[in-house]
Amino acid sequence: MFEQERLELVNNLRKKGITDERVLEAMLKVERHRFVPEIVQHHAYKDIALPIGYGQTISQPYTVAIMTQSLKVQPGDKVLEIGTGSGYQAAILYELGAKVFTIERNMELYNKALKLFDELNLKIAARCGDGTIGWEEFSPYDGIIVTAGSPSIPRPLKKQLAIGGRLVIPVGDRKTQVLKILTKISEDEFKVDEIPYFAFVPLVGKEGWNGK
Ligand code: SAH
Repeated sequence: MFEQERLELVNNLRKKGITDERVLEAMLKVERHRFVPEIVQHHAYKDIALPIGYGQTISQPYTVAIMTQSLKVQPGDKVLEIGTGSGYQAAILYELGAKVFTIERNMELYNKALKLFDELNLKIAARCGDGTIGWEEFSPYDGIIVTAGSPSIPRPLKKQLAIGGRLVIPVGDRKTQVLKILTKISEDEFKVDEIPYFAFVPLVGKEGWNGK
């Protein structure tokens, strides 16, 4: 279903500057319409964010593509995602061959995503809780991707990143953020690149909004 729409979306993303063919291939394969409520399924292949309930959204495909491309995932990499939401971003990472760990704070979204991972046979480790403190048990991660906007970079996430690993996180105020791409050089040294401007839902937690 929707093969033609998916192909058009991917061609559109290529035109908008996405160059990593592996990312584009994964987006051609993963059926975004499975991750959105039935009522908006006919919009699934437009390059827009869509509501998934509880005031949350599935990110715009371009945003998913640029974040995934920035993460530079290699097959076998251990990747932690904060903000499972619909599960779409996690499915893209899985398709790229990553071992995916994902955390969602909203119990209903978490349950929905678990069910969908099972239906689609995606072997993704998921938990419900505050992702701003990371998931220490399986650290260090080769990549960490945060799909909600944060006022600052949560310290636990920097700590749980492997040397040489990348952390992709939108940082800013509640309305707009810049995408920060940190590469861990040593235990306390990071190279930082930035891509403006994005608008994510807020990261709510101990090391995010409403934290302290
Ligand atoms: N990656 C998702 C995008 C979902 S929007 C997708 O592909 O659909 C961001 C999600 O982050 C929301 O579902 C929100 O509930 C969740 N979130 C916000 N703060 C969080 C936190 N501290 N820990 C885990 N999840 C959080």
